[in-house]
Amino acid sequence: MRFLILIFICSLCACSSSVAKRLDDDILVGGIESEKKYKGLLWYNVSLDTEMRVGVRLLNPPPQTRLFLPMNWGGRSDLAERININAAEGPKGPLAFTIDRTEGVIEIDTRDAEWVQLQYTVNLNGTDRVHPQLERGNIFAFVPSFLVRPSSSILDKLIDIPIEIRTPKNWLVVSTWPLVHNKQSITNTDEIIWSYLVPNPSQLVDAFINAGPQLKKRTVGNVTIVTNIKQFEKSKPLADFVFEIVNAFSKRFGSIGETKVVVRPRRNHSEGYIGMGRRGGFVIELDELTDLEKEAKILIAHEAFHLWNGHSLVSDVDAVAQTRWFKEGLTEYVAIKKLYQLGYLTRMDFLDELAAGASAYWSNPARSKPTLTGEDAEALSYDRGMLLAFAIDIMFLKTSSSATIETWLVALTQTEEAKSPGYTTALLQKSLFEHIPLNPYTESFWQRFVVGKQTLNLRDIFVEADLHYLPRRFNRASKLIELEKKDPIYEQLFSLP
Ligand SMILES: [Zn+2]
Repeated sequence: MRFLILIFICSLCACSSSVAKRLDDDILVGGIESEKKYKGLLWYNVSLDTEMRVGVRLLNPPPQTRLFLPMNWGGRSDLAERININAAEGPKGPLAFTIDRTEGVIEIDTRDAEWVQLQYTVNLNGTDRVHPQLERGNIFAFVPSFLVRPSSSILDKLIDIPIEIRTPKNWLVVSTWPLVHNKQSITNTDEIIWSYLVPNPSQLVDAFINAGPQLKKRTVGNVTIVTNIKQFEKSKPLADFVFEIVNAFSKRFGSIGETKVVVRPRRNHSEGYIGMGRRGGFVIELDELTDLEKEAKILIAHEAFHLWNGHSLVSDVDAVAQTRWFKEGLTEYVAIKKLYQLGYLTRMDFLDELAAGASAYWSNPARSKPTLTGEDAEALSYDRGMLLAFAIDIMFLKTSSSATIETWLVALTQTEEAKSPGYTTALLQKSLFEHIPLNPYTESFWQRFVVGKQTLNLRDIFVEADLHYLPRRFNRASKLIELEKKDPIYEQLFSLP
């Protein structure tokens, strides 16, 4: 059922029009020179303290402005419920608007208005990792979870989007958005204004912010790590480790700009380690510890590799689902291989991680039910993807003296199609076979297991590397045994670059 609320704001509420007057000079948007048509036409003002208040302003709006609430992201469909719309205003005062929460659309009557500003508050009481939240005095939010935005037809044309975050004086703000400057507000000396200028819509949305009085920032090289002051008394070992990993990937896959890493308190100890990697930065949940466990190191390496092999906000939903194995499973494989090469995992650890992934794949109910969705289906793409990546890496080792799976990845990430429209199975296939010989084995493997999604035969996959797979039995974990033979393939896998 469609649920429509019609709101007319009358002169009774005129006092709230003081929120959005002319563009203030101590804010960045006043300094944007619009030499390009769509430069700086959209503007966000975010106020943070114990609350989160957001103003989204569009200059030169159409007669009827449609703005969109955040709907599905991070596996959650309740994001819009956490947003309260307070007012819509133009230069002459309040404007009439409607909210259709089923469709997630706000429509504002903007006839003859030079600009329109929608004011809303974001609920920070979420306990879920996807929801914006106030945690131990600090605010953390993934941008797609709270951003109200114009239609794609407007958004896609915009460049240089100014964002201003106002915080109390003693706060620190860290975001994947590019910071231009932070300075005291002229109008309120108790406030700091953090001014960002975001080059394009995808960087606007694919971002996170972390802000508060209890944050500590540590920078090593181009990596900035933010932790809660009370959580990590000594954040240096963690910062050094993250820098080493990012740096090792940079050497192989090309350097990237500044990287922001946010460490959040681990909230659920029963479900393993959790993180989320975006381009420009990543978020990890860790315990209050200084010595990193193996699982935490694998998590960090995995999220760090998403800086190169990240999820992009492409609109082709089918391509996203088809290539999830590549984004997640291959990322996991490259992560554990890199940790082995850097000496953080032993040869045995490396094999145990592969065997554990194989075992998890085999016991996952989603393996034989392709229509299943949810957590099992998501876990399947990790484990299945890791096995596919391993099999492809072995193909490289058997057919080339120098190329590895990383050779393919470096070439792939540099293609224009990888950036836009993003990965598709056809693109992966085209670029793979530019580096690997097309023979009956490689071709049939790709067609059967990647395109056709047939069930993987674990013994067959591992025997290609001269490894014998022993499935899990009773309380003995699954295992990979090195077969004794002359010049086994696994020795090439273990050889250091
Ligand atoms: Zn991932």
